Amino acid sequence: MKDLTPNGIALRISLVVAISITLLVFALEYLMSTVNYPLIALVFPVTFLASYTGFRIAVERFIYKKIKVIHRTIHSLKLKKGEEQKEFSLNQIQAEVEDWAQLNKEEIDRLKGLESYRREFVGNVSHELKTPIFNIQGYLLTLLEGGLEDPNINVKYLVKANKGVDRMISLIEGLDEISKLESGTIELNIQKIDLKELIKEVLSSLEMSAKTNNITLKFVEEPTKALWVMADYQGVNQVLVNLIVNAIKYGKENGETLVRLHNLHDNILVEVADNGQGVAEKHLSRLFERFYRTDKNRGRDSGGTGLGLSIVKHIIEAHNQTINVRSTEGIGSTFSFTLKKA
Ligand code: ADP
Repeated sequence: MKDLTPNGIALRISLVVAISITLLVFALEYLMSTVNYPLIALVFPVTFLASYTGFRIAVERFIYKKIKVIHRTIHSLKLKKGEEQKEFSLNQIQAEVEDWAQLNKEEIDRLKGLESYRREFVGNVSHELKTPIFNIQGYLLTLLEGGLEDPNINVKYLVKANKGVDRMISLIEGLDEISKLESGTIELNIQKIDLKELIKEVLSSLEMSAKTNNITLKFVEEPTKALWVMADYQGVNQVLVNLIVNAIKYGKENGETLVRLHNLHDNILVEVADNGQGVAEKHLSRLFERFYRTDKNRGRDSGGTGLGLSIVKHIIEAHNQTINVRSTEGIGSTFSFTLKKA
């Protein structure tokens, strides 16, 4: 159907009415053989004007007044006080109502998503904290109930309880860091840094841990000198440490971890690749979520908080850059992120 405004509706109806009446008058006069042409010429404009005015008022009053309320409600946020609504057509209203319904649906879906994310998050935090708290409580109770006098367990249990406290501290610190990164409280100190130098430092600081796990760390670098990027030194340091520690932790016996750099147009792409256990396809899209682990127990037992990759992603995004992962189960994983060239 054609898109009609109140004006258009009134105009069309009046045209039909005026033509019909004019034809009727003409037919009657013709039948009575007294055709008065000046009168007929007058009937058309008069009937057209009269019916146009009447229909316009009727359409306005009975249909548009009601629709206007709906239209105004939908527009209430967009129209400023005292601003008049322009004339609108039925098709326009239909399109706007559909848009409005679609927007509402999207907003409701978004809120539902946030709500389930919040619920899952609270559940995860309490679950993660519960384990070390119950462990600590168990050790302390045993000590209180006489274990303190037993030289076989007293120091051992205190050390274990202390480990639980350490674990709780790393969880709280991780959460605190994520919340600061999310709220923008942590100010990045973006400056020109020598990326190659930074990578070498991180690799040498993790050398021992790699050796203990029988993993070789390698930096595949082009023979150019310094490579300058604009980034926060501490932030990138933490990203590299987290990724390389994971590569070691989830690597295989006698495996290797490579750090590679690729020169892109405006950016440098940093890759941390391992030939370890890899990640199944179904987990990949959720890997950067807080507390997400492919193997719940193994990750926790190896001392991980499940927050490392989430922190890494936040740091990279705070640099307005991106991080990705590709992985094949049993073959290995490659985490890659970009940094802006200086
Ligand atoms: P965690 O403290 O558990 O290591 P992360 O956020 O660092 O937490 O990593 C989340 C999960 O991603 C890990 O539990 C592990 O399942 C998976 N993962 C991370 N890095 C690797 C990797 N290099 N190889 C295989 N799996 C990995």
